[in-house]
Amino acid sequence: MTRSQEIDVTENSLVGELKKHIGAGRIRFQQERHTDHLLGMEINGVTVTEDLQVLVLELSKLSPRPITITSVIRGGRGHHSLGRAVDLNEDVAPVLLPLIGTPDPVERLSIDELIFDAGTVGKTNRNLWNFDRGKPHSYGETTLAQHRNHIHFSVRHRG
Ligand SMILES: [Zn+2]
Repeated sequence: MTRSQEIDVTENSLVGELKKHIGAGRIRFQQERHTDHLLGMEINGVTVTEDLQVLVLELSKLSPRPITITSVIRGGRGHHSLGRAVDLNEDVAPVLLPLIGTPDPVERLSIDELIFDAGTVGKTNRNLWNFDRGKPHSYGETTLAQHRNHIHFSVRHRG
């Protein structure tokens, strides 16, 4: 069975919507394998959660410019290894984060973590749009330093 056939078997309306946005160039990928991750392919026993797919679709709808995904499932610790996190290229930060990094959208979209160093786009409050466990949060220097060239999102665990 080919990759595309496997994806078709599990296709639902959410995956269909994501494919439309991908086809329209609204959701882009730094590496081709990130497309498979987002559309639900199992990677070492891990698949992305439906909440994460919903989040990416909403980010695409909200963003005035196309979004570029730079990481989805990867090894190690943390939410990426659980299929609950996605990284975006930082180019959309100034236009997208004011629309998403506030309590209402964070609650509505079940966001757990949102991490980006707003100092890189000239904001005095480097934690301006940051959340942890769904609440506004000030990350320390080490974490901020790791989130200057991408925006990290994770969704909450259900269960
Ligand atoms: Zn990340």
